This record gives sequence, structure tokens and C-alpha cells, in this order.
Amino acid sequence: MKAGTATCALCHEAIRPDADVVLSPDFIAEDSDPLFCFSNAAIHRACFAVWGSRKTFVLRFNRVAAQLRYDDGTYLHMTAEGDLVRRRGGRPRTPPPPA
Ligand SMILES: [Zn+2]
Repeated sequence: MKAGTATCALCHEAIRPDADVVLSPDFIAEDSDPLFCFSNAAIHRACFAVWGSRKTFVLRFNRVAAQLRYDDGTYLHMTAEGDLVRRRGGRPRTPPPPA
């Protein structure tokens, strides 16, 4: 993603400053990962909503994010709509699978 000129990771159209976008955090380090280019990316909310891999992506993010606690015990959670919210408590039951 180029600085200053954001393009949508799904449709590759430019993202206007006033557009409603999903900003995904940088959470996939492996560049061979099929979802790599959607990590640390901007995506039109309309594109995100109809994206076939949306559920997988949100699950992946939440699995990683639940392991990364802030000092106050909260962690980031992505909703099905792509919004990031802070959550608290409830340790994840299963550890993430090995990368
Ligand atoms: Zn788009």
C-alpha cells in the first residue's frame, strides 16, 4: 500500500478521503499467506461486506488479536462489519495453531 494514495485491497480503486473504509491492522507477517495483502490494508466497506473471504479474515484477525492483550487487559475484536472494538476478559479457549 502506497503512502498517501490508498487503494482498496479488494477492488483496487482509489479510496477517497471521505469514503467509508475498513482499515485492517497489520496482523499477517507471512507474505505467502493468501490473506497477506489484506493485512495492513484499506478496504471500502462496501467491498468488505461482499467479500467472499470476509468471515475467514475476521476469524483470523480475532484469533491473533485475542492473544495480544493491552496492559489494561483489553484486546481488539473485529466485528463482522470490519469495525474494531476493544473487548475485555474471557481468555480464548484455544491457542492459535502453529503458523
Ligand atoms: Zn473497493
